[in-house]
Formats: sequence, structure tokens, C-alpha cells
Amino acid sequence: MTDHETVILRIGHRPERDQRVTTHVGLTARALGARGMFLAASDKGVVQSIADVVDRWGGEFFCQDNVKWRSCIKDWKASGGVVVHLTMYGINLPDAIEEIRPNKKILVIVGAEKVPGEIYGLADFNIAVTSQPHSEISSLALFLDHLASGKSLSHEFPGAQIRIIPSKAGKQTEG
Ligand code: SAM
Repeated sequence: MTDHETVILRIGHRPERDQRVTTHVGLTARALGARGMFLAASDKGVVQSIADVVDRWGGEFFCQDNVKWRSCIKDWKASGGVVVHLTMYGINLPDAIEEIRPNKKILVIVGAEKVPGEIYGLADFNIAVTSQPHSEISSLALFLDHLASGKSLSHEFPGAQIRIIPSKAGKQTEG
């Protein structure tokens, strides 16, 4: 696990079209060391897909749906955490990461469709991963890797039923 307690808040999720991307936001967050994902929508399909991966591949990542984003942000701040909103309109990541890193409890907001303007004011940091439009998955991955100073690729996942044995060729697993 990381030095940071990092949790994702996914807003704007539309179950009819965002299920795959939101699941990949959660899986990326888990693989790169975040503790869990709050989903500001109702989608048991996403919750179940992520729970299935956690069962097989280990670790303790949580996914909670039906979260109200305003109270989620308020509660997070009240518990001493800071809020980072990933947006191409923000301050470029390399120019802000040193200021963010000393905070141990970080809520990372990523959008799907247009994000409510209020979020920009509620966030402690509005952070761009380049000032070009791309994706919540790529921006989250780069943010988590910079937060962990490039050490996000080697987390342990205790309790896994299956583990990959890295190989130069072919597929090797144990468990
Ligand atoms: N069209 C939407 C809008 O104008 O707000 C943005 C949609 S974008 C596909 C979905 C999410 O990806 C954004 O809410 C943001 O969290 C993230 N994202 C996309 N490009 C980004 C960038 N360059 N830096 C940081 N986050 C980015």
C-alpha cells in the first residue's frame, strides 16, 4: 500500500454508457494503490465487477455506489482530507504535485460528462494532466504515479487467489 490514503470520487457516471470506463477508473485506481472508489450514481454492475476482481486478485479496494458527491466532499474535508479535482483547465500536474504530496488523505475527483462548476470551488486543487482533453483513466493513472513518485507500479495485493509470474514470453500464473 501507498503512504497515502487515496480514494476516488467518480461523478457524472451514466450507467447506460459509462459502465466500462467507470469500471476501468476503479481498476486503475486499485492497481496503482488507491484504497477505494465512491461512485455518485447507482450502478451495482460496476460495484460487482470491481468486487469480483478484488476477490480474485487480492487487496482491500472498496467500491461504494449511491454516494452524494456534496456530502462526500464535505465529510472528506471534515475528516482532515484534501480534495484534488482532475480537469484539463487546472494547474499542470508537475507544477502542483510537490504541494499535494505532503497531504496523506486525498480524494481525487474525476468526471464523465461535464462536471458541475461548483466542484472547481470545492476542490483544494484543480489539477491538469496536460492542458489537452483526454480521459479520466489516463489522467488518474498519471496523477497516482506522480503522487507515489513513480512507485505506483509495484504494490502488493495480499489474499490473492491468482498471481502473475512475470515472464518474458507466454503467460504464467500461480494460485
Ligand atoms: N467534456 C467534459 C467537460 O468539459 O468537463 C470532460 C469529459 S472528460 C472525457 C472526463 C474526465 O476526464 C474529466 O472530468 C476529467 O476528470 C478527466 N480529464 C480529461 N482530460 C483531462 C486532463 N487533461 N487533465 C486532467 N483530467 C482530465
